[in-house]
Amino acid sequence: MEMPFRWPDVYQSLHREPDVRPEKSLWFVFRQGELLVTQGDEGAAALPPIEHPEILGLTALREHYLGTFGETHCFAAEIAMESEDPPGWGWIGLRSLFGAMDDDLFALAGRAAQLLEWERTHQYCGSCGTKTVRRKEERARECPSCATISYPRVTPAVMALVRHGNRILLARSRNFRRGSFSVLAGFLEPGETLEQCVAREVFEEVGLQVKNIRYFASQPWPFPHQMMIAFFADYAGGEICVDHTELEQANWFETDKLPPIPSKMSIARRLIDAGLAEM
Ligand SMILES: [Zn+2]
Repeated sequence: MEMPFRWPDVYQSLHREPDVRPEKSLWFVFRQGELLVTQGDEGAAALPPIEHPEILGLTALREHYLGTFGETHCFAAEIAMESEDPPGWGWIGLRSLFGAMDDDLFALAGRAAQLLEWERTHQYCGSCGTKTVRRKEERARECPSCATISYPRVTPAVMALVRHGNRILLARSRNFRRGSFSVLAGFLEPGETLEQCVAREVFEEVGLQVKNIRYFASQPWPFPHQMMIAFFADYAGGEICVDHTELEQANWFETDKLPPIPSKMSIARRLIDAGLAEM
């Protein structure tokens, strides 16, 4: 997916919802991680343009105002599991909607899913256990007892395409689709730069040293709240020694003999494609 360099001009992130609820807003309605959609024009998945999900007979456990998309206000809602399906509408997992709906709306749906997940898991203060409330000034929750503030959670993770001559390093973990490989990846640790994280992850997972660590691009990954940050790196030394707690296999692959690699939905694939194009 070609992520826009910034949010499209038509989307404005706001946290204070309008005083009067508009007759028609765009609702990102989730039930157990699946989004409520219907078949729109030209086969694309469409969202309900309604005043509130209760119009469709749905009970919202939680609502979250997102901002405006063009002239339209946008809301996210999480619906009780036992809610009945409104006629003409269906529930589809977010991953399956990639490419099946407008890219900007897909990105907003990812944002909506992450914000709902954050609110669901931050109902109580992590410090003293008091029920938290929304802050008026910003998108955050606050403890009325001890004033601890929690912001929407984003977890940074790096990935690296390591190159050596005309070969690239690919690995597979146990949970990958049979036979498929991808680039190395791992989560950022506190106190670490992104580049240090790349070097550490590569060394921990396959025992190699790398150099020339260069930023490529980033992609929000709302499963549930990662930010994937992709880098190129060049081999600097060492022999492959796979950490089998993390990986099943890791190998050098010549660029014309690649194994199955991730789909175009992921930034890993864009990183590999861009790396190959440069080589
Ligand atoms: Zn507290």
